[in-house]
Amino acid sequence: MGALLELLRERQTFVITSHARPDGDAIGSSLGMMHLLHAMGKQAVVALADPVPVAYDCLPGVQSIARALPEARPDAVVLLECDSVARTGYAAIPAGLTINIDHHLSGRRYADFNWIDPEACAVGAMVYDLARAAELEITPAMASCLYAAVLTDTGSFTYSSTNAATFALASDLMERGADANAIVQAVYLSHPVSRMRLLGTALDKLRLEETEHGECPVAWSSITLAEMQRAGACVEDCEGVVNYLIAIGGVRAAVLLREVAVGPAAAAGLAAATEQATQFRLSLRSKGALDVARVAEGFGGGGHRNASGCTLTGSLEGATQRIVEALRTACLATPATPAGVAAADPEQPATLLA
Ligand code: 5GP
Repeated sequence: MGALLELLRERQTFVITSHARPDGDAIGSSLGMMHLLHAMGKQAVVALADPVPVAYDCLPGVQSIARALPEARPDAVVLLECDSVARTGYAAIPAGLTINIDHHLSGRRYADFNWIDPEACAVGAMVYDLARAAELEITPAMASCLYAAVLTDTGSFTYSSTNAATFALASDLMERGADANAIVQAVYLSHPVSRMRLLGTALDKLRLEETEHGECPVAWSSITLAEMQRAGACVEDCEGVVNYLIAIGGVRAAVLLREVAVGPAAAAGLAAATEQATQFRLSLRSKGALDVARVAEGFGGGGHRNASGCTLTGSLEGATQRIVEALRTACLATPATPAGVAAADPEQPATLLA
């Protein structure tokens, strides 16, 4: 961390970015990093290729987030939660220096400086550690952003990446002025009704694989563009649907396939169900030692052991068949307890989710 602080101190202008379709950790840690750099007297802006979901409008500094990269080349770019430059959604990011801060198991050392800690519950927690190491004051603004990052990336402190240190961190952020109530209200209690309608559709289509012993190790569902249109829903409304699938007792792996608008259909804002090159974004979840990061990597994606994602092209039936088969194989290769929940892997005590 000392080396990273040195690199930051030596430079003056920064661009901070994170992955496409930004989530709570991407947004909260980016803004937290911006506040940290401002506290160091640096010029720092956040640029995210995709829009920030309205749920995060409450975070201090969110209005300053740009979609386009600034024209002037900065001294350094900080990439948070990304395993590559491509994952940011930008084709290229010119900079004097690239700094990669990530907590994904599938994290890659692609930047000039790389700090990857798969044990961290959120990149927001790593930014907090950096602020503490720099002996900077954690302002209420920074605390709120980092709290949102930790809250969302631990599934509201439910994933097994959550430990005593996570609660100590949350407690400290609240003491420093994080507005935890406002964040919970905005992130979890302000959903549009379209989201609930879409959830209903996805749960209605839920499929479970039944084995001869009556176990259902794999659950899956899908959301097409036509279904999103019917529900009046947007991409944001698909967020979290997969968590309902993995919440089923006995299910060890779950996947939600979401159709993505590509080509002429995307340009016209139309459903692409009849397009030849239909594309699906996959959200994978698992319990215990079952490693869906590895499954996603097999399809060019990545993530955490218990939460990962990738993209598949083809028909819905074909994509479903491929991923369910891969998850079934992963289930068979990973020992489970009699209750159907995978045994803990002593080599990887910190089970990480989204
Ligand atoms: P989600 O299902 O919530 O979109 O993603 C779950 C986790 O997998 C997140 O930590 C996310 O960053 C990661 N992830 C999702 N899609 C991809 C992908 O295409 N590539 C990589 N490297 N990580 C992904």
